[in-house]
Amino acid sequence: MPPADDYSLDTLAIRTGIHRSQFGEHSEAMYLTSSFVFDSAARAAEAFQKGIDGQNVYSRFTNPTVTAFEERLAALEGADCCVATASGMSAILAITMALFRAGDHVVISQGVFGSTVQLFQNFFEKFGVQVDFAPPTEPQAWQQKVRPNTRMFFVETPSNPLTEVSDVGALAEIAHRAGAVLIVDNCFCSPALQRPLELGADIVIHSATKYLDGQGRVLGGAVVGRRELIQGPMLQFMRNAGPSMSPFNAWACLKGMETLGIRMEAHSARALALAQWLERHPRIERVYYPGLPSHPQHALAMRQQKTGGGVVSFDVKGGREAAWKVIDSTRLLSITGNLGDVKTTITHPATTTHGRISQAARDAAGVGEGLIRVAVGLEALEDIQRDLARGLDG
Ligand SMILES: *Cc1c(COP(=O)(O)O)cnc(C)c1O
Repeated sequence: MPPADDYSLDTLAIRTGIHRSQFGEHSEAMYLTSSFVFDSAARAAEAFQKGIDGQNVYSRFTNPTVTAFEERLAALEGADCCVATASGMSAILAITMALFRAGDHVVISQGVFGSTVQLFQNFFEKFGVQVDFAPPTEPQAWQQKVRPNTRMFFVETPSNPLTEVSDVGALAEIAHRAGAVLIVDNCFCSPALQRPLELGADIVIHSATKYLDGQGRVLGGAVVGRRELIQGPMLQFMRNAGPSMSPFNAWACLKGMETLGIRMEAHSARALALAQWLERHPRIERVYYPGLPSHPQHALAMRQQKTGGGVVSFDVKGGREAAWKVIDSTRLLSITGNLGDVKTTITHPATTTHGRISQAARDAAGVGEGLIRVAVGLEALEDIQRDLARGLDG
């Protein structure tokens, strides 16, 4: 593995985490095996009880292809540790189980993914974690939520689906003064556009399912941060609870990450052009995209992120009926909840990704009935535009 500070991100995304086998393969090998063998009973005993550096035991604990993925993502985020998980949600589950306990208080952004809200409200609360919500764009409101037992702030920036941008540095300062850690879900930007640890965050969460894979093939997740903070507790949890990343999925994400930098630029360029076009359209009430000067946190976004990213949301005049008409009039775009794919996807958040949370939570998150989210893929911009125009103009 090359030293992380010698190479730029595009190089690290291609060259980090390569451990060639005796066969000298050029492309990363895929180690599809559930367990690993030992030379002797004594060696097996040592590996099980104390652990041997570089010796894998069982793929629930570690696997060479998964390790390669972890090394590469850690390098991209500028961290010295990464633990891969089966999905983005299991990354959030694992880090919360690993670091926190009953009686701890956590503050979650109101603008997080629907399943994240449910995980905290329906499950962690059940085990005695106290859960509070705060607006993503008002750091002072987070300060007011702090209690003596506050241990974690959790934020997504830009948020899904409204692309609200949180001030990572300001939230980190408040969290650290309170003795809490700041966790940032960096799914929308990926490390190609934003590196939250450099902005002051303690831990980065990923859904590798999105831009790291980049072609909508596999589920994956990761927890990234300082070794002394996450490695021990995370490995202990993974080893005993088992939401581990499959080596096949790790391999798919390794191949995806090779093109992460150029894909994120191409997604962003199309998304910006689409957002500008939508903003001029008479049937559109409002466009949410951090790359637009009209975005309320545009200046902050441009300080924290390299570009606006690939996701554009917009309110169509006429509520749910009008929004569904735009969605149902598409022929090219995929009506599906995923994002971060080369294929452009379109969703109605109020009835899909955010359909299972309460109306009050949806209102607090600002997810209205006329809202449409488009995760801009890599098809030609004019074709994406024409597909949306059919429902908007017709
Ligand atoms: C998709 C998503 C997740 C969950 O990831 P999975 O891999 O689907 O479990 C978490 N956070 C954000 C922002 C997401 O978009």
